[in-house]
Amino acid sequence: MAIDTKWSEILNSSENKGAYIKEVQDLDDEIGAFLQFDPDLGAALTTGGSENSLKGLPFAVKDNIAVKDFNLTCGSKILETFSSPYSATAVKRLLEAGAIPVGKVNLDEFGMGSATTNSALRKTVNPWNPDRVPGGSSGGSAAAVAAGMVPFSLGSDTGGSVRQPANFCGVYGLKPTYGAVSRYGLVAYASSLECIGILSESVDMMERVYETIKGSDPKDQTSRDASGEIPDLHHETMTIGVLESTEGLDEEVAQAYEEAINQCKSLGWNILPVTIDSLNYVVPVYYTIAAAEASANLARYTGVRYGHRSAQSTDVQSMTRETREEGFGSEVKSRIILGTYVLRSGFQDQYYVRAQKIRTRIKMDLAEVYEKVDLLMMPVFPTQAFPATGDSLTPFQQKLADRYTITANLAGLPAMSVPTGVKNGLPVGVQFMAPEFCETHLFKAAKAYEAIYRPQRASKSLHLIQEVR
Ligand code: GLN
Repeated sequence: MAIDTKWSEILNSSENKGAYIKEVQDLDDEIGAFLQFDPDLGAALTTGGSENSLKGLPFAVKDNIAVKDFNLTCGSKILETFSSPYSATAVKRLLEAGAIPVGKVNLDEFGMGSATTNSALRKTVNPWNPDRVPGGSSGGSAAAVAAGMVPFSLGSDTGGSVRQPANFCGVYGLKPTYGAVSRYGLVAYASSLECIGILSESVDMMERVYETIKGSDPKDQTSRDASGEIPDLHHETMTIGVLESTEGLDEEVAQAYEEAINQCKSLGWNILPVTIDSLNYVVPVYYTIAAAEASANLARYTGVRYGHRSAQSTDVQSMTRETREEGFGSEVKSRIILGTYVLRSGFQDQYYVRAQKIRTRIKMDLAEVYEKVDLLMMPVFPTQAFPATGDSLTPFQQKLADRYTITANLAGLPAMSVPTGVKNGLPVGVQFMAPEFCETHLFKAAKAYEAIYRPQRASKSLHLIQEVR
């Protein structure tokens, strides 16, 4: 609580606010988290008058989530000049609680990527080491929290895009149950997989933000409230499922996973090694479904309704073709082509329908595992934050490396990445994955872990907050 008081003091006094704005702008020249930073514009939107635990707290919003009057670029040239006429439901609920959106943060174009290097608009670096990527696609959301520019941010998680950058930047990252948070105002990439998620500096902050934004919304037909009782989780009898085999992890990540297993034991939790065979199929299944849905969702950018319109056109067909050619980056184009391919008539059974069947199988396998365990604990990503250039992971390797995060999206389950330490100057962590609507179990586990390891701020971070802390 003490930290929050300082945070809200920052924006309440004009002297502190001026210093805050200046320091964020200076630091962000190096980090590149923000695409737009305008605390006054955000403060004017805030409607929450009553005392609330989030009142006065600044937060950042991934630039594929709508905030009224702010830009909504999705990190793409095609929407570079587009500004949003309304706010997403999750943002609206935060505004009603008195929190202040200070700006929009960078991402891989339309959320497609794992390093924020697919942004067409800005380069973002990892505040722990400027030679490393912040992760992605919510790289700006993670970097802004890790650098102490905001105590929390919103991101979106279609296949790991909240948890993996949170892990790379040493902050907490929550992907809620599918439908637990309204997607109204989140620009669609792969609708059946994605959720608005939270990145935060502490578990307590995460929990309060989640309580504020969750709940069904008439504007999103897939949003839901939890049905039935959520079983209580008893510390003494808590059983954590861990993967029997975790091939392909970098040494530091494998070590961190082993250490986390030992920490769970020292917390008195039971450890049960499990094997989930269908996990071997998650990558092709995810990329088939995600590309198919992306090709349909991105069909709306034709130069007619939103953003960029090519000046090269001579007729309607060429307007659409040239607008898309000029406006989309290469990763987005390749996914549209892949998605169109897997949905071609005559081929649907072979790819899309087959992927959906395996997806059902994955859900069934996980339901069986959750009869024996309360939570699963898995690595987040096989590597720590990798270099932006040089021997870094190729786009194909990055996709293969999504295998630990995409499972929760395919099954619609909540998962939270938790920082567990620092190795070679970069953060390491694990993720906990729970049954549907059992976010409280994730918070419980993460809090127990937070008592053992309290994440530090990155080396590049705001002095102002460090001082008031
Ligand atoms: N890396 C994955 C992808 O590129 C996940 C992205 C996301 O969760 N938005 O699709």
